[in-house]
Amino acid sequence: MTEREGTREPCYAGDVARMQSFVEGGCWVIQTSERLRFELHWSLPLFPIFTRCATPISFALALVVLAVHEVGHAIVVRWRGLETYAIRMHGMGGHCLHEGGRPLDEAWIAWGGVLAQLPFFVVGVALTSYLPPGRIADALWVSLVLANGMMIAFNLVPIRGLDGWKAWSLFRLLRTDRAATKARADRWAEKDRAMWDTIEAAKKRQAERDRQNLH
Ligand SMILES: [Zn+2]
Repeated sequence: MTEREGTREPCYAGDVARMQSFVEGGCWVIQTSERLRFELHWSLPLFPIFTRCATPISFALALVVLAVHEVGHAIVVRWRGLETYAIRMHGMGGHCLHEGGRPLDEAWIAWGGVLAQLPFFVVGVALTSYLPPGRIADALWVSLVLANGMMIAFNLVPIRGLDGWKAWSLFRLLRTDRAATKARADRWAEKDRAMWDTIEAAKKRQAERDRQNLH
């Protein structure tokens, strides 16, 4: 999930030590830099349980997939030249709090989460088809394939609050963006032609004047 919070500023000032760790509002906060913090809510261990990842391996992998989803958003935020403020993870999922951008930026950022977790789904399918049946294969199947696949599908549902709300507008926005870029290029080409026409006309007038002066 992604959340826009354009005016949010870090709520502390002064020198902040790198990798500072403290508890705030029921969250274990890991401050990785002055501007970016990871906020892990006490309810976070419920997330793997909700997604039926109850064995130690599947439990840990479900948390990894959730973190990868949120970091995926953060990477696209950076790529779009915007800033991530916080990554929050809790029992119901997570949020990447970031600087608000244009609709096209927001659509790309919305895709960042599911695209980051997709390779884990592919690896999960590949590993479970090669590994012999057993505890590890079961854990990989439940976490990387079932829970991960459900997360991807759920997040792409186009309802407000989920990534799908903004993600599916990407294709329309890219088309309009391309059309706008082409229109801009056409306008410049038109101006360019008009300028050369003016120069050519001036040259002809000058040549005509020179010819008349010679006679
Ligand atoms: Zn998301």
